[in-house]
Amino acid sequence: MVDPALPASTGPSCPEAPIVRAFDADAVAEAAALIRGGDIVAVPTETVYGLAADAGNADAVARIYAAKGRPSFNPLIVHVADLAAAEALAVIDTDARDLAERFWPGPLTLVLPLRPDAPIARLATAGLDTVAIRVPAHRAMQALLAAADRPLAAPSANRSNGISPTRAAHVVASLGSHVPFVIDDGACEAGLESTIVRGRQVLRPGPIATDALFPDGSATRAGGEATAQPVAPGQLATHYAPAKPLRLHAVTAADEECLIGFGAVAGDINLSPSGNVVEAAARLFDALHAADAGAKASIAVAPIPDSGIGEAINDRLARAATR
Ligand code: AMP
Ligand code: MG
Repeated sequence: MVDPALPASTGPSCPEAPIVRAFDADAVAEAAALIRGGDIVAVPTETVYGLAADAGNADAVARIYAAKGRPSFNPLIVHVADLAAAEALAVIDTDARDLAERFWPGPLTLVLPLRPDAPIARLATAGLDTVAIRVPAHRAMQALLAAADRPLAAPSANRSNGISPTRAAHVVASLGSHVPFVIDDGACEAGLESTIVRGRQVLRPGPIATDALFPDGSATRAGGEATAQPVAPGQLATHYAPAKPLRLHAVTAADEECLIGFGAVAGDINLSPSGNVVEAAARLFDALHAADAGAKASIAVAPIPDSGIGEAINDRLARAATR
C-alpha cells in the first residue's frame, strides 16, 4: 500500500524545529496520536532519550532509520508496558522470566525468540527471528506506551554516530527538524544504554552489572565457557540474510530468479513503485523473506539509489550478496 503521506526520499524532515513539550497528560496524548498516525516522537527513558515509533508499522520504523541517518539497519529495541505484553511478542523461557521479574521495569533488554505471529514489522528486527525487548521504568515512556497501546521501537534519539541524548536539548541539537515532537522530562537517570542479554550472554554491558544479573557466575561467553566478561556489542548480533544467492543492480531477471523491483523496474515484488527509498526500506525485509521462501532458486534486486536511507538498504543488500 502506498502511503501518500510518506516523506520524500531523503527522509522525514519537518519544516521547522521540533515541538518540545514538558511531560504531562496532554503532551503524552499528543505524542500518542502522532505514533498512532505512523509518525516518530522523542521520549525520555531511564537510559537515554529514545526515538519511538509503532513497532508494528514498517513505514513508521523506516522513519526512525531515516531520521537517524544510519547507513545500515540495526535491529531495534522494542519497548512494552509489562511482562505480559512482552509475552505476546516473544517466547520467554525460565531464565528470561527470572531476569524479567527481577529487573523489569528497568534498563535491561532481553533478546528473545520472536513469536511468528507477533505484530512486529520485520524492519524493526532487521529481519531476524529474535526480538530485543525492554520494559522501561520511566514515567514518560510508560505513559506513552499506555496511551499509544502498542509496542514501540525506540533506538537512541540522535543522528547516526552522535552521542546518546540524555536531555531534550540534546535531541533537538542532534535531530533538529528530523523529529516533529519531543517530550521533555529532564535529564535521564542512567544516561547509559540498557544492558542487553541473550540467554546468559551479556551482549552489551550497561546500567545493570553482569554480577547483578548472574550472581552465581553463570554468565557465558559466545562459545559457552563461563566468564563474567561481557562480549563487545555488535559482535554477537547476527544479521539476517536470505539463504539463496542474491544478485544486485538487476534490471531484468533470469527464469530462475525472483526479481525484487524498485521504481520502474517492476519485478515480482516491488519495494516502491513510486521510487521512494523510505517506503523501500519499510518493505525490504518482507521482500527478502518472501523471495527466500518462494519457488525461484535465486534472488535479483533492482538498483536502489544511494540517497538518504537508500544507503542503509544498499549496505544490507551488499552484505547479503557477498556472504
Ligand atoms: P540501540 O541503538 O541503543 O537501541 O541499540 C540496540 C542494540 O540492540 C544494538 O546493539 C542491536 O544490535 C541490539 N539488538 C537489537 N535486537 C537484537 C537482536 N534481535 N539480536 C541481537 N541484538 C539485538
Ligand atoms: Mg545509539
